[in-house]
Amino acid sequence: MAAERVDTIVLGAGIAGCALSYHLAGRGVGPVLLYDPRTPAAGATGRAAGVVTEQLWNSWDVDVARASKNEYAELAARWNPSAYTVNGFVRFTAHREAARVLEDAIPRLRQWNVDVRPAGASELSRAVPWARFDDLEGAIFSPGDAVVTPSAMTEIYAEGARSRGVDVEFGTPFGSLSHDAETWEMTVGRRTVRAARLVVAAGAWSKRIFASLGHPLPLAPYRTQAAVLRPPPGGPAPFPSVHDVDLDVYVRPEDQGRILAGDGTELIEVDPDRSSGGGDEKFLTHLAESFGTRFPGWAEAELVRAWAGVCTSTPDRRPFVGPIPGARGLFALTGFNGFGVMRAGGVAQRLAEYLAVGEGATAERDALRPVLPERFPAGTPAVAPRPGFTLEGGDDPRF
Ligand SMILES: Cc1cc2nc3c(=O)[nH]c(=O)nc-3n(C[C@H](O)[C@H](O)[C@H](O)COP(=O)(O)OP(=O)(O)OC[C@H]3O[C@@H](n4cnc5c(N)ncnc54)[C@H](O)[C@@H]3O)c2cc1C
Repeated sequence: MAAERVDTIVLGAGIAGCALSYHLAGRGVGPVLLYDPRTPAAGATGRAAGVVTEQLWNSWDVDVARASKNEYAELAARWNPSAYTVNGFVRFTAHREAARVLEDAIPRLRQWNVDVRPAGASELSRAVPWARFDDLEGAIFSPGDAVVTPSAMTEIYAEGARSRGVDVEFGTPFGSLSHDAETWEMTVGRRTVRAARLVVAAGAWSKRIFASLGHPLPLAPYRTQAAVLRPPPGGPAPFPSVHDVDLDVYVRPEDQGRILAGDGTELIEVDPDRSSGGGDEKFLTHLAESFGTRFPGWAEAELVRAWAGVCTSTPDRRPFVGPIPGARGLFALTGFNGFGVMRAGGVAQRLAEYLAVGEGATAERDALRPVLPERFPAGTPAVAPRPGFTLEGGDDPRF
């Protein structure tokens, strides 16, 4: 069969690849093929908690998360209102030192126009009566933050991309990927497709794909877990998502009066094809202990299900978005360090803008500067994953 020709192949139908395809088609970049050997949101996206917050570490991230939030609000209002809820987000601590770091974050976040303020124990007790705050040392609250249903949002993007003319190929086994000086060639099932540009948005699988193309990136896939629980009925709904900085446990409202809880990062690299998808005992024990000490009103909550997903870390916790140096027509959209849902919409807009303008897109390239893959020279080794929700922050003068 003769090879088909498209302008851009996007690998991966997680929230990032679907959002990018939607935006590429919206800018008339085409034809675009969006390929995934599984189904949309089969990777980390379908396992994510969907917390979207502007309590972030640098102005680039805040701008991107805000653009995502605005887009998710708009798309959900149009296609699936239950997929997006503004409920606010609280980070809190019972330790003086961590409280100081939270306090320091307030002027920094405000400088980036984040609506954030300190919160006291009585306010938090009213908002989240299942938790105890009698030992609270510090808390910051961003009332405009939200929760999304990541799989629903991905479906909206995938359907939107399809209706804008993107050719989607889901569930067909991967065949091969190769390139010559001008063209990327991919076979999937019985199709052979050639493209001038290839965007790898394959989440935890991106590391292997880049390595196989001879352009390894310092990515480290790691596991992280979450669970849905059914607490006794009652209390305000929806309540703000809460993150206990000391225990590194977060809880957000889920549908049908349930709650979704998760903890931090597993600090070892895993192979996404060999990683267990179930929640393990250590995680469930940590949740039970955390609920016992911090969220006593949820201590009797019934476990509905627990699971793990594989995220992808980078040495500086910033994603890799943009052209791969020395590889004509090869681009990355990965390495989200556990925050890909909140970044996907905004970062896809920026990458689509850059790809739409093509060579010479200086302003569009600048909009990606902090996350361009070129910041690490070829051959930089991956480093072990590190905790996601860290407290330090501030714009890095190097960018
Ligand atoms: C428990 C948990 C909680 C989380 N909570 C949050 C949160 O609250 N907020 C937040 O912002 N983020 C959160 N995340 C992180 C978030 O899930 C990820 O950062 C985000 O989903 C990454 O999206 P992605 O599209 O880059 O990758 P993925 O969703 O992993 O998608 C990659 C896709 O690539 C496909 N693929 C694999 N191989 C190939 C190939 N050869 N060719 C083409 N496609 C291929 C896979 O099938 C998959 O569908 C959480 C993650 C987990 C696991």
